[in-house]
Amino acid sequence: MFKFDNSYASLPQQFYQKINPSPVSNPSLIKINTSLATELGLDPEYLQSDQGIAILSGNQIAQGSQPLAQAYAGHQFGNFVPQLGDGRANLLGEIIDINGKRRDLQLKGSGQTQFSRAGDGRAGLGPVIREFVISEAMHALGVPTTRSLAAIKTGDQIQRESLMPGAILTRVASSHIRVGTFEYFIARNDFESLKILADYVINRHYPEIVDSENPYAELFRAVAQRQAKLIAKWMQLGFIHGVMNTDNCSIAGETIDYGPCAFMDFYDPDTVFSSIDRMGRYAYEQQGFIGQWNLSCLANALLPLIDSKQETAISTAKAVLEEYTDDFTNYHSIGLLNKIGLEQKGNLALVEDLFKLMHKYRADFTLSFHYLTEMVTDQSYDQEFISLFDEANPKLSQWIQDWRQALSEEDKELQTIAEEMNKVNPVYIPRNHIIEEMIEAAVSNQDYSLIHKLSEVLAKPFTKQEGADYYLLPPKDKNQNYQTFCGT
Ligand code: AMP
Ligand code: MG
Repeated sequence: MFKFDNSYASLPQQFYQKINPSPVSNPSLIKINTSLATELGLDPEYLQSDQGIAILSGNQIAQGSQPLAQAYAGHQFGNFVPQLGDGRANLLGEIIDINGKRRDLQLKGSGQTQFSRAGDGRAGLGPVIREFVISEAMHALGVPTTRSLAAIKTGDQIQRESLMPGAILTRVASSHIRVGTFEYFIARNDFESLKILADYVINRHYPEIVDSENPYAELFRAVAQRQAKLIAKWMQLGFIHGVMNTDNCSIAGETIDYGPCAFMDFYDPDTVFSSIDRMGRYAYEQQGFIGQWNLSCLANALLPLIDSKQETAISTAKAVLEEYTDDFTNYHSIGLLNKIGLEQKGNLALVEDLFKLMHKYRADFTLSFHYLTEMVTDQSYDQEFISLFDEANPKLSQWIQDWRQALSEEDKELQTIAEEMNKVNPVYIPRNHIIEEMIEAAVSNQDYSLIHKLSEVLAKPFTKQEGADYYLLPPKDKNQNYQTFCGT
């Protein structure tokens, strides 16, 4: 049924611990992702059968699977930890999907490994369904991300602040290799493994650079470009990752690790949701800079491969880091301009003025841009837009006028502008208060209906859906100070 084609498992043994998932007592299916299953060439019916559930809960090892826990290190909140690794996950193996792309299949919450440190190797039901719904929403929003194939309730209780039901997520990724995987080997001065890893990554993720003059410098450049694009996309959606440590920074440029992430409701560039991020290191507005910080850790690990002369290696890496900043700034500003339907960089001041007003009067991020999209062809939406701001302000009316003037100076039909804006300004995002409601219903009442309903709405985030206003609206209380916790 699963046609595994494992490459990571044939890397040398210092890359992982070969270990099977630990069995659970009474697995039951919470949600399966049928379209992703089909994309992977898997039969969704089979995955929901007793045998399918046994495999997705770790109770049975599928034929061809070679479960392992990957070794990696990482900078967590700026501090280097030489050994992290999969402390609660097993890579089951790789599958070549129907498009010929290699994908990792991993169980998260599947028991202890040699990397567990003091942890129990498990995951809670709340964080698992949270990751399922938000990662799939990100995919539908057009953001590169790990995917969620299945969520299983284990039937066991786990101890957190209180006892809670345990669960396992089947995560699908281009790979689970992180900046921290490179840091793991450089921290051990294991240059041989470092080169094996870099060659593996080039072959798997960046085959187009194999024959370049300096493939390792090009590898660094390619990773930097993907990160610049990724983080700019997050910011255009008001997404805050929340724990962008180097071990959560994917080499393939996907969003990974949905612990404390959340979307902003009202706009505030300093927004931090994570309860452990006391200094605001991973605040909304910091994310572009943090991307560069993480890349400088990758540079540090790649230096010996980039050039045998350290000075030359450093200057090459520095140039790439500067390119990253330019790329990010460019993607970011163009992305924001497009959100208001404009293209000329000269109009950036309009974007800045809008953000100032949105910040001061706490306007909802997603709805502001959604209503602006409607306003291009229908002035009756002006009032809806204005009502998002704490106070109607003469500056706001002036801004709308200036914006309409700028739109009229674009060399395009208003209808076309509205259509283009609609592609970048979603109607629906996973709203924090609804995610919490969904978790509460699942944990306290075994009621999974909101998981299904929310997933259905979020699968088409750019399409206004009949009877779905509940999912569109921000929370009634702007002052609720939403807090998130790492997904343990
Ligand atoms: P995260 O915060 O999910 O990125 O995890 C950081 C590190 O802690 C990784 O090495 C995880 O494998 C490990 N970890 C997180 N939660 C647990 C847990 N419940 N049991 C064992 N290891 C864990
Ligand atoms: Mg992590």
